[in-house]
Amino acid sequence: MAKASKPEKTAPKAAEKTVKEAEQDNTPVIDLPRSISVRQLAEMMDIDAISIIKQLMRNGIMANINQVIDYETAASVVGSFGYKAHLTPIKDQLMANAAEESKRLKRKYGKDSADLVTRPPVVTVLGHVDHGKTKLLDAIRKTNVVDSEAGGITQHIGAYQVMIDKQKITFLDTPGHEAFTAMRAHGANITDVAILVVAADDGVMPQTREAINHARAAEVPIVVAINKVDKDNADPNRVKQQLAEAGLVVEEWGGNIVAVEVSAKEKKGIKELLESVLLVSEMEELKANPNLPAAGIVIEAEMDKSKGPLATVLIQSGTLKEEDMVVVGTTSGRIRAMFNDTGKRIKKAEPSMPVEILGLDAVPNVGDTLTTASDERHAQAILARRRAEQEKEALKKQAVNLDNLYDQINAGQVKELNVILKTDVQGSLEPIRTSLERLGGDEVQVRIIHSAAGNVTESDVMLAAASNGIIIGFNVSPTEGAKRLASTTGVDISFYKIIYNLIDDVEKALKGMLEPKLIEVIEGRADVRAVFSAGKGAKAAGVLITEGKAARNANVRVLRGKEIVVESTVGSLKRFKDDAKEVQTGYECGVGVKDFNDFKAGDVLEFYKIEKSRK
Ligand code: GDP
Repeated sequence: MAKASKPEKTAPKAAEKTVKEAEQDNTPVIDLPRSISVRQLAEMMDIDAISIIKQLMRNGIMANINQVIDYETAASVVGSFGYKAHLTPIKDQLMANAAEESKRLKRKYGKDSADLVTRPPVVTVLGHVDHGKTKLLDAIRKTNVVDSEAGGITQHIGAYQVMIDKQKITFLDTPGHEAFTAMRAHGANITDVAILVVAADDGVMPQTREAINHARAAEVPIVVAINKVDKDNADPNRVKQQLAEAGLVVEEWGGNIVAVEVSAKEKKGIKELLESVLLVSEMEELKANPNLPAAGIVIEAEMDKSKGPLATVLIQSGTLKEEDMVVVGTTSGRIRAMFNDTGKRIKKAEPSMPVEILGLDAVPNVGDTLTTASDERHAQAILARRRAEQEKEALKKQAVNLDNLYDQINAGQVKELNVILKTDVQGSLEPIRTSLERLGGDEVQVRIIHSAAGNVTESDVMLAAASNGIIIGFNVSPTEGAKRLASTTGVDISFYKIIYNLIDDVEKALKGMLEPKLIEVIEGRADVRAVFSAGKGAKAAGVLITEGKAARNANVRVLRGKEIVVESTVGSLKRFKDDAKEVQTGYECGVGVKDFNDFKAGDVLEFYKIEKSRK
């Protein structure tokens, strides 16, 4: 990201004239600093950055949204938006910057902002299978380990740090958006920057798009690594084209996405990639205060036969020291020993550092938070509070679904309906997407956070859980894993075969007008073994219950082969001579069907009830 040319020392004459003119003709004056990014300029004028980029292009200047332009360049475009430029005197500007910066940091980090220092970015590698995520992580580790003596030593824990230009970067070693989103579903958004690996010989694939959407949903900036450029059939330009189609426009094409060509195999481009990660994370202004007691997140945990419970923790703020008393999730303990990513024993761990800790009473869960306590009693108090909070949260936190959407909007819990849309064919995506997005109003926006062709997978459910979203499937079905995960996480999945019904349901849900549909639930089946008289010309069937149960108040249908002979209700249900309320599988009983006498041996009775549901 090149800075625009150096600004001149004195305010240009043109600008002075502009102010005078402005005073005369009442044009609003805009105070500009000596240099400003396109984004900031857009914010100052409250217009879309794209309009500025277009205007700059008309003036023959190519700039992206993050590019810093000088005063003259900025002054040359503000006129088109109805402003006159004025150069803010340097002293005022410095004062304003310092005051603004201090206010902003206080807002973001609280009263301890004076002790803030820049912390290393935490990076996750995402991308389609076989595009080289593992190989890239390996290449990065081999070329840049922090502890050079340990260069040859295999890594011990699920994260490692590398050093580039005297700055550190932390890499999480579990590539793929599934793990990334699983952590988010636990409430732990620990990734600062995502590297999206795209193989230059294969291009943007379904999981690449999925990864992009997962990173976006988490609002994590993306750096693209165009990998395998060593291959004969590598075509980086095609990748850039496909990325643009997926909404990631690379810098050289006027966008703001940094893309670096690499070969994980030949370890080429690695340094440039890491430098780009640093550049992008610089804009994120990652800061933490190392002078506080440590706080962190568990990224791995296991029971070791000889050492006891082990946990790898990513320190997020403060410094963790040996002998510290910590609470991790709903367990606690005093740190007996700590090890860094190369297995070396260390006495303290600072922000963004992954460490393995020994000394916990039990194995915590991945995603649990670590908090430092002043002593054992304090730890017990934190534990008690956490358990109480957990119980309260469990009661309060109800996943959004189409049935409760209206109530949640009214309660202010939902401002945006996050939707994951899956369809059978690519062609159905766009029309459904557009129709859904149009449904949103002032109260609530419909936001499609991921859409793709294909069945509903575990990864979709995880994303919905992490984003408090719902899943809508059109002509698709869920995988077994997705069904299981949806029932444990409470994620709502609705399936449709008719677009009209899909749109209609969401619209009604937004307005609180969704009526539940009635569906049939089969309760049991029985084989008719004999037919006998039940008095007054009525007939009853002697049956064996083969599945589920027969209930006195159930609906029943009589099947003969594939043909439905009658739909009715159970008129009588008897075990021997006695009336029965229910008869379970494996038992024989007599069944009378209301207004029906024409049983034949070999018929099958199907017992069912009608329930309210939308699915
Ligand atoms: P992942 O599934 O994304 O983790 O992919 P892997 O890292 O396992 O790599 C998949 C395959 O691509 C392996 O056979 C790698 O050796 C190969 N591969 C990875 N990076 C490169 C590269 O830069 N160049 C070439 N030629 N092959 C690569």
